[in-house]
Order: sequence, then structure tokens, then C-alpha cells
Amino acid sequence: MKNIITIDGPSGAGKSTIAKLLAKKLGYKYLDTGALYRVVAWKADDAHIDPDNEEELDRVLENIKITFDDNRILVNGIDVTSQIRNPDIGELSSKVSAKPAVRARLFSIQRELGLQGKAVIEGRDTGTVIFPESENKFFLDASFEQRGKRRHKELKESGKIDDKTTLEDIIEGIKTRDNRDSTRQNAPLKRTDDMLYVDTTDLTLEEVVAKMIGALK
Ligand code: C5P
Repeated sequence: MKNIITIDGPSGAGKSTIAKLLAKKLGYKYLDTGALYRVVAWKADDAHIDPDNEEELDRVLENIKITFDDNRILVNGIDVTSQIRNPDIGELSSKVSAKPAVRARLFSIQRELGLQGKAVIEGRDTGTVIFPESENKFFLDASFEQRGKRRHKELKESGKIDDKTTLEDIIEGIKTRDNRDSTRQNAPLKRTDDMLYVDTTDLTLEEVVAKMIGALK
């Protein structure tokens, strides 16, 4: 399957920005799978559900309708685009994403969205679990320092953190999340031999995208 391009990697590796740019250049759709886990986290938080209570999480997911409208993401009609970017929701999303019931529910949503046409899909398990049959798989990475700097800048610019939050705090958060995402039992973040590994630390966006386009089958 060549119509689905998967991009996996840790947070702050540049996946979202690059996936969007790549999708635009190719005229493909773009699917941010992390946003789906963030939505579940937002919903759990909103409904005061313990993130460790898998049964309740599953029940909530039964009645959830997630829709993408241009660049907005709606949950049962409520626009949560901005709220899901809060750092505490990021942390919570990593917790709920380790639950098999959550992953099972989101699996079919991702397959359906991806199969609607040509798509660039990014996340942690898009090339290993969601679209293992893809022939165009990438793994993006960058140094902790660089990933921390990017996240810090992004959160600062969008007013999601205050002046007291340091770069070191952000890097700590990234390490905790990376560790949880890579060591969980169910669909851990994993680089496999069929993925093209791109270290984005010292590359510009354009350079990364050009490299990826050059490698497409
Ligand atoms: O990419 P983003 O930071 O928005 O992802 C939020 C969280 O969702 C990640 O830390 C990870 O735990 C989870 N996730 C996942 N599988 C994916 C995408 C995201 O488990 N395919």
C-alpha cells in the first residue's frame, strides 16, 4: 500500500509540522492520531474519570463522536482544538493511551479515516499497528535538547505555559512521556527496519520533507 504514508516518532521530533507540510505538497489528507488520544484524555478529565479505570474509559468512548473539520477537532460537536494542546492533557493522553480498551476503540477510527483516500498519518504506532501494510514508513527523531526547545517555543507561543516553566521542565516531561510510550505492553513506540529513520535535529523542515519525498515508493 503506497497511498498511506506513516510517520512515527517521539514527541517534539517534528512529526506534526512535517506531516502537514508533506500532505500539502502531495495533495494528501493529514491525520494526527495523537489528537485522538488527547481527545480521550480531555474527555476523561472533563467527565472526572480516573485514567486507570479502563472500564469507565471504554464506556465514555462508546458514546464519543470525534470529527475533523478543516483544522479543528470536535468531540460530540464541541470544539476542543485548543484545550487538547494543554501540557496536562498531553501527559494524561500518554496514560490513557496505554490502556488496551482505548487503543482498540481508536484503532477502527484510524483505519476508517486513513482508508478514505491518500493520507499522511502520524503518531506512535501508525506504521507498526494501524497501517503495517504501508510501503512508505518513516521514523522521525531529534535530540532531547532540540525536542525540548521546539515544545517549549510552541507552548510559550500559544500561551499554554507560564514564564516559570523552564526548558528543563519540558525536557523532563518529554522523557517521562517517551519512557511510558516506548515501554508499554500495547503498541509501544518502536522503530522497525522497514521505516526510514530521519534525525531532524539539524535539518530544516524543507530538508526533511525533501528527503522524505525522495524516498517515497
Ligand atoms: O503526538 P502527541 O503528543 O499529540 O500524542 C499524545 C500522546 O498520545 C502520546 O504521548 C502517546 O502516548 C499517545 N499516542 C499513541 N499512539 C499514537 C499517537 C499518540 O499512543 N499513534
